[in-house]
Amino acid sequence: MPGTLVLATTENAGLTRNALEVLAGGKKLRALLGEPVGAAILGRELSAHVPLLFAYGADQVYRAEHQLLERYQGDAFASVMHQICQRAQPNMVLLAGDSIGREVGPRLANRLKAGFVADFVDFDLEAASGRLRFTRQTYGGKAMAVMQPKAFPVVATAKLRAMEPPTKEEGRTGEEIVVDVALEASQLKTRVLEKIQEEVTGVKLEDAKIVVSGGRGVRGPEGFKVLEQLAQVIKGAVGASRAATDAGWVPPSWQVGQTGKSVSPDLYLAFGISGATQHVAGISGAKNIVAINTDPEAPIYKVAQLGVVGDWKAVATKLIESCKELTGR
Ligand SMILES: Cc1cc2nc3c(=O)[nH]c(=O)nc-3n(C[C@H](O)[C@H](O)[C@H](O)COP(=O)(O)OP(=O)(O)OC[C@H]3O[C@@H](n4cnc5c(N)ncnc54)[C@H](O)[C@@H]3O)c2cc1C
Repeated sequence: MPGTLVLATTENAGLTRNALEVLAGGKKLRALLGEPVGAAILGRELSAHVPLLFAYGADQVYRAEHQLLERYQGDAFASVMHQICQRAQPNMVLLAGDSIGREVGPRLANRLKAGFVADFVDFDLEAASGRLRFTRQTYGGKAMAVMQPKAFPVVATAKLRAMEPPTKEEGRTGEEIVVDVALEASQLKTRVLEKIQEEVTGVKLEDAKIVVSGGRGVRGPEGFKVLEQLAQVIKGAVGASRAATDAGWVPPSWQVGQTGKSVSPDLYLAFGISGATQHVAGISGAKNIVAINTDPEAPIYKVAQLGVVGDWKAVATKLIESCKELTGR
């Protein structure tokens, strides 16, 4: 290659949004460094994805097909990514900061004896030295840390939703490389026994344009039923603070924040959420934050564009009424 290699993951017979985000990162690196972008795609029956990867910016596609890659398995993915890196010799490997990237990234860095940057939100070239540097949130989003790799290759995971998917360039082509995968079942230390797909009704939290989120102030699962009603009327998704998910009021997958999901909606409605730094770390990409809280001193108002000091239920009920009138839903 050498240049950037991104791991392009698939789900339900399509490329994931996370894959497109890391391709956007690869394209940005190409613009900064003038180096090509390779995409590694692992699984079974992947041919249909190859033209799409070119259209979204890949110059090369490394297609690795094997029966043991049919379902994601950490050992298998790390081993095959290592094989692809040995062939492609990239300077940078980018993975999404999702459960796959968080598992494969460090393992791959170890195998490559590479540097590792976790959950970067951006990168650029330092003006004086022309050296690449990454920015990532630290202290729960209170400060930004700048990391400059001293040696290459570097494996890095991108914080989800920190980058927008690139625009598709129809008809763009590149080089397809079919990888001869060397993988034995005996090499794998774990086996996937069952995949349980969480049922998602309506919009996915990470992709929602409107997020209606509740915290401890909502006081229980019944409160979230009201928020779900509001989300339904305004076509949003429901999120929660860790206080609400830890209390078991809503599933853990609804948690927004440092140890939950990062969201970047146009509108984030925070009901009864204090605005702890760990929560705010997950909403830094939100374009507009509206906070509803009884405490006028709640820290959430520091990051909100609009605040309502008042009881969450009174505001949510009124909003449901008004939005129903406006939308006719
Ligand atoms: C390592 C680590 C990781 C963490 N990761 C996350 C994370 O990913 N996401 C996350 O959310 N948290 C995370 N936390 C927890 C975080 O520090 C806070 O404890 C949590 O966000 C608080 O949730 P909350 O705002 O719902 O609850 P609280 O802080 O208890 O706030 C409740 C708010 O509700 C208001 N309120 C009360 N009654 C009403 C009412 N009737 N109407 C309106 N408002 C009302 C109160 O004034 C208060 O501001 C993490 C903590 C640690 C240590």
